Amino acid sequence: MAYDNVETSKILSRAEVLDAQLRNAHPREILATAVREYGDSLALVSSFGAESAVLLHLVSQVKPDLPVLFLDTGMQFGQTLDYRKTLAAHLGLTDVRDLRPHYQDLATGDPDNKLWQRDTDACCNIRKVMPLDRALGEFDAWITGRKRFHGGDRLRLRVVEEADGKLKFNPLANWTKADLDAYAAEHGLPAHPLVAQGFPSIGCWPCTHPADEGDDVRAGRWKGLEKTECGIHVARAPGATVDVGGDI
Ligand code: SF4
Repeated sequence: MAYDNVETSKILSRAEVLDAQLRNAHPREILATAVREYGDSLALVSSFGAESAVLLHLVSQVKPDLPVLFLDTGMQFGQTLDYRKTLAAHLGLTDVRDLRPHYQDLATGDPDNKLWQRDTDACCNIRKVMPLDRALGEFDAWITGRKRFHGGDRLRLRVVEEADGKLKFNPLANWTKADLDAYAAEHGLPAHPLVAQGFPSIGCWPCTHPADEGDDVRAGRWKGLEKTECGIHVARAPGATVDVGGDI
């Protein structure tokens, strides 16, 4: 993707202004501002994972018809696919979209469905990055569920940032695990069924393991590999800040 330098700097400065304005705001206010500013050009990307219910509930209060993009990689746990359906219905979300890899990309790049054993970056590219890039083409801004308490590069996560010529809102950047648990309890939100089995962070089944006591939240993702993120949050536009992180 190529972006005009003038256009990129305009988007960057818009991100900086909004970040300064919303740095300490409640997630609901951040969402409301995103909806007011971007309207139909805004989407949420959700993994329907261990912590997703909180942000999805907040969205259901602000704009239940907001497009919610779910990466159905072909490698999701069956429990996640069930949870995606029941949670969306429970919250009254009316525009959840399942993003799938293109048949042709799988036929040429992962014909035996075992690319994850050989090259996880290439597998994430076909099954996550490319489908999301295609889907985000119609939007100018998107919302993620990332939080600073997940550690790593997320420690410096901003509430509003720019990547690849689009604005990204991170309404839960400031929230702690205790904040999430309290919100989920207050609103009686159903938990992902694998949380009770020791999965604090949930992605594709080949690359997700339970975490050990005292581990970081994302310790079970790509366990034993250097990889910590799927790549969808790596800015690729010229002049953009590289920010690796993601809730999916
Ligand atoms: Fe492939 Fe694993 Fe990435 Fe899923 S998380 S797309 S299975 S490498």
